[in-house]
Amino acid sequence: MAYKVNYRDVEFNLFDYLKIQDLGQSEKYSGFGREDFAAILGEALKFAQKEIDPLFKKSDQIGCKHEGDKVTTPPGFKEAYQNFAANGFIAMDVPATYGGSALPVSVTMGATEFFVGSCIAFSMYSGLTRGAGHLIEAFGTEDLAQRFVPNMYSGKWGGTMCLTEPQAGSAVGDLTTSAVKEGDHYKIKGNKIFISSGDHDLTENIVHLVLARVEGDPAGTKGISLFVVPKFRVKDDGSLGDWNDVKTVNIEHKMGIKGSSTCTLSFGDNGNCIGYLLGEQRKGMAMMFQMMNEARIACGLQGAAASSAAYESALEYAKVRTQGGKTLIIDYPDVRRMLITMKAYTEGMRALLLYSAYLDDKENVEQDPATKEKYAGRLSLLTPVCKAYCTDMGFRVSELAMQVYGGYGYISEYPVEQYMRDIKISSIYEGTNGIQALDLIGRKIGQKNGEYFRELYEELNGFCGKQAAHPAFKDEVASIKKALDQVGQVTMKFAEWGMGGDILRPQLHAVNYLYNLGDTFVAYLLVDQAVVALVKLEEIWKSQGADNEEKKSKICTENDEARFLEGKVKSARFFVSSVLPQVTARAKTILSEDLSALKVRF
Ligand SMILES: Cc1cc2nc3c(=O)[nH]c(=O)nc-3n(C[C@H](O)[C@H](O)[C@H](O)COP(=O)(O)OP(=O)(O)OC[C@H]3O[C@@H](n4cnc5c(N)ncnc54)[C@H](O)[C@@H]3O)c2cc1C
Repeated sequence: MAYKVNYRDVEFNLFDYLKIQDLGQSEKYSGFGREDFAAILGEALKFAQKEIDPLFKKSDQIGCKHEGDKVTTPPGFKEAYQNFAANGFIAMDVPATYGGSALPVSVTMGATEFFVGSCIAFSMYSGLTRGAGHLIEAFGTEDLAQRFVPNMYSGKWGGTMCLTEPQAGSAVGDLTTSAVKEGDHYKIKGNKIFISSGDHDLTENIVHLVLARVEGDPAGTKGISLFVVPKFRVKDDGSLGDWNDVKTVNIEHKMGIKGSSTCTLSFGDNGNCIGYLLGEQRKGMAMMFQMMNEARIACGLQGAAASSAAYESALEYAKVRTQGGKTLIIDYPDVRRMLITMKAYTEGMRALLLYSAYLDDKENVEQDPATKEKYAGRLSLLTPVCKAYCTDMGFRVSELAMQVYGGYGYISEYPVEQYMRDIKISSIYEGTNGIQALDLIGRKIGQKNGEYFRELYEELNGFCGKQAAHPAFKDEVASIKKALDQVGQVTMKFAEWGMGGDILRPQLHAVNYLYNLGDTFVAYLLVDQAVVALVKLEEIWKSQGADNEEKKSKICTENDEARFLEGKVKSARFFVSSVLPQVTARAKTILSEDLSALKVRF
């Protein structure tokens, strides 16, 4: 079954809800209009369906291979990667100075959903290259940036992020890779594990961003610096020089994303690996956070994009599979429950991610420093939610997709079991979801004395006040208000526990707290979107003279746009009635006095 996506929903988010076409009025994006953005999205979808989708199965069945000192990707990856780069898809939101198309982040995110949804493993190579390029662009000297970045964005060279070591996973500060200054560069020595895109045959060189400690610098995260370490050295004229003593020791055999190479890399076994310091010494973690934040949103997108693909696949199957005589399984209430659950989560996650991408755009075009900071603060607050909520819920959606398929879902002939396996890793890498939840409660909620959280809270509260009497959605709005109050109550409780010196209880409930914030914010987005959708739907009904329920229903059956808009309203209602009540249950868990988890003797 070919890759499918609700393209109209992506457009609805971008143009009808967020109205990103207004970015064209800013200096940064002047000259761009809705048609331009839509054309790019259309091309991106075509590319995903034509060039990436055929790699999906091969990615899983053939996977990557490590033979001798070579890592090969599945057949077709190399050609598709070069075409992908030639179409400018690696560098969509990158400044023209480095060969990019300087597009808004929201358009890039919309297009990236198609690339990721059609094959997560393939999308990893460009995603990491882009992230690494951004980082060198942001913190490197002009010389360093010009030497590496254009070749990365053009698809000639790849990129990676190298944090993890056998003894340093979540606790990156425990890393032991070392750097010793030698003239204008450093000698790097150490081992990194689980490095995505660490070695492959897609590009002639790979630029590793390596976290290491300069000899004599303090232990822990404060002593970490960041280095640009190419697989092959780069001569002053930009041509490739000698091998830089970066050896691929092994590639992992894993549950999913088998077409994405996951490598154990050894740097400087022969004492001959050089790296260039990026930015300031001992500021490595802070810089790497930029890449990690991008990568965390990208992880969230993996969850959302694969869940969307799994949903579309299950939906298509449910429309043709019969049981019990001639009954299509889509007509069984329990199958309908599963399908609308998938639909509502998928639309909710997409809304959250595109909204977050748009915060980036707003920050980029805003001139006033205080407003700029507000957008950045909101994005920073929502980043762990995008990552952990979308990857966990995405996995659940993929599980439901398998359930809709029944036994065939478990069989590799159909794609959903692969989606489920491919998606799982996204809740683990880039900081496990447990770590994301700790970041949310320990850092993000209290950031700037809680101002970013307070603003978000007040905005949602304002929405609830404004729409409290909405003729179609007042009940949903009341439910959101209740959930928001519970989020507020728990936030206060966390602060109280923290001030009383009890740090274990907030940590114990951090994931539940993150889910609650995620559910509440997604419910808000879906209902806010449903308000917009209903206005449009009523316009269609009016224009076609539908003055009773029967006529309205007929239009929604026959007219694609009306059916889509009605579906948005139904997703919002279902999410509020069937998902949002979990906020109350989780709040009850959090506020209970039960500390068994902390006290149990395992
Ligand atoms: C396929 C794949 C690709 C990867 N790609 C990359 C890559 O490109 N670059 C890279 O550097 N790394 C990469 N990783 C590594 C990945 O980021 C780590 O596996 C991840 O950060 C978790 O580290 P760990 O595996 O050591 O688990 P651990 O840190 O040992 O965690 C185990 C469990 O303990 C929990 N835990 C740990 N510390 C805490 C704490 N303080 N509080 C609460 N709970 C805690 C975790 O949430 C988890 O549930 C990849 C891994 C895989 C499997």
